[in-house]
Amino acid sequence: MANGAAQIEIDSVHKSYVDVGVDLTALEGISLSVRAGEFVCLLGPSGCGKTTLLNCIAGFVRPTSGTILLNGEPVQGPGADRGVVFQEHGLLPWYTVAQNIGLGPRIRNVSAAEIDEAVRTYVALVGLDGFERRFPAQLSGGMKQRVGIARALANRPEALLMDEPFGALDAQTRQTMQEELLKIWERERKTIVFVTHSIPEAIYLADRIIVMSPRPGRIQAIVPVEIPRIRDRTSAEFGTLYREIEDLLKQHR
Ligand code: ADP
Ligand code: MG
Repeated sequence: MANGAAQIEIDSVHKSYVDVGVDLTALEGISLSVRAGEFVCLLGPSGCGKTTLLNCIAGFVRPTSGTILLNGEPVQGPGADRGVVFQEHGLLPWYTVAQNIGLGPRIRNVSAAEIDEAVRTYVALVGLDGFERRFPAQLSGGMKQRVGIARALANRPEALLMDEPFGALDAQTRQTMQEELLKIWERERKTIVFVTHSIPEAIYLADRIIVMSPRPGRIQAIVPVEIPRIRDRTSAEFGTLYREIEDLLKQHR
C-alpha cells in the first residue's frame, strides 16, 4: 500500500531573507540526517527558523546555500513525495471532507477508483468514518486537522512535514491527536518531521528532538528520546528530559 519512507539529508543549509533592504539570517549551517521512517521534532522558540527549515524540505523555500537530498535526489521544489500539514488546516471550505482528501490524487490524474480507495483508506485511518460528506465549517478543530493529515497521506508521500499542526487545539484534543498520530506513524511508517515549540509534545512524539536556537537559526542540540512508547507524560524520566531541554532553551533567552 504505502510507498517507502524518505531519507532526508540536509547539508550546510543557510537561508537569509532580504527584508526592507536588511539581510536576515534565518538559518545558519544546518546539517541533519533523518533516517527513513524516523520521527524527528524541530523544537525551539518562535523565530528560530523551524518553519523556514520545514519549508526548505518541502521545496516551498529555496536555501541561499547548502543542499537538501531526499533519497539522494536534490529537492528542487514541492512534490507529492512530501505531504505537508500546517497549523491552519488549509482545507477548501466548499469541498467536503472526502473531496478535500481526494484533492491531491485528483490533481495528479489518478483514476476515480483509486481516489475512492485512497479516500476510504485515509478517512478510516484518521477516524473520520461517517463524516465524509461534511464541510470543514461543520467540523471541530481536531477533526479538521485529521482531514489535513488524511489529505497529506492520500498522496502516499514518503515523508510527512508538519508545522505546529496541533498548536491551535485545546490541551485534551492535542494529546488525543498526538496519540493518534503515533498510531498512524506506526501503521504507515513514513518519515515525519514535526515542528513544535512544546517540549512535552516533542518528548511524547519524537525519536530525536532537534533543539534550535534563534538569531541566527541554528541547531543547538540533538536530543535522542530513549523512553519506550507509549510514553507516560507523568513519569520521572519524562520529567527529567523535560528539565534538560528546558535548560537548553533557557541558554538562549
Ligand atoms: P519559526 O517557525 O521558528 O518561528 P521562521 O522560520 O518562521 O521561524 O522565521 C525565522 C526568521 O526568519 C524570523 O526572524 C522571521 O521573521 C524571518 N522570516 C521568515 N519568513 C520570512 C520572509 N518570508 N521574509 C523575511 N523574513 C522572514
Ligand atoms: Mg513557524
